[in-house]
Amino acid sequence: MKVAVVTVGDELLAGRTTDTNATWLCERLDDRGVSVERVTTVPDRVGDIARVVNEYRAEYDAVIVTGGLGPTHDDLTMEGVAAALGRPVEEHDAALAWLEENGYARDDLASGTAALPAGARALHNEVGVAPGAVLEGIYVLPGVPSEMQAMFETVADEFAGTATYRETVVADEPESALLDRIADLRDRFDVAVGSYPGESVRLELTSTDEATVEKAATWLRERVESPDGER
Ligand code: AMP
Ligand code: MG
Repeated sequence: MKVAVVTVGDELLAGRTTDTNATWLCERLDDRGVSVERVTTVPDRVGDIARVVNEYRAEYDAVIVTGGLGPTHDDLTMEGVAAALGRPVEEHDAALAWLEENGYARDDLASGTAALPAGARALHNEVGVAPGAVLEGIYVLPGVPSEMQAMFETVADEFAGTATYRETVVADEPESALLDRIADLRDRFDVAVGSYPGESVRLELTSTDEATVEKAATWLRERVESPDGER
């Protein structure tokens, strides 16, 4: 399953808020064997949201959108998603009923709180107020991380992929010195290799076959300098 993540918010693009939602979603999806192919941040603008959602829903099995839910002027995500699908936004009866059952009087709710793209399945917000929505493979979740996480868990089972196995090998050598061994490793074993230099080089080996990735990691560990001098 291939998925795109779209985070919405001017404050993300200005660097005032760190996009922890994207990182959290990528990690959770990766754990489930789902391949995240895009992470895109867009401003609080209906046209920008609609354009990217429309492009990604054609390309991927699902699109997860976070941020910009609620009744304030800059909460435009539901409108953007509705525009992408050519649908209106309308009060969602089930979402309103759920809010009422959970102690929010209809008259006290800000206008638009339960407005979702027409025909959406409402996702209830166990942590906050604004409901989320699912329609046509587009999952719209809140921006507040605790709300987003709780709501994602209610739909997590709808995201499934192929289990992948990962082994990490740390090499205390310059990355450039490792090129021949990485090439040799890739010739010998059917694994994907990621090379992440920092103080030492972290080599991440992944495969859909557990035994293959273990054998590859053992082979490589025997051929690189480990940080504590062990081999
Ligand atoms: P919003 O849903 O855009 O009204 O955002 C509600 C709150 O969630 C704000 O305090 C945002 O800074 C925060 N927030 C929104 N998007 C993200 C994100 N991608 N990562 C972390 N926090 C976020
Ligand atoms: Mg916002």
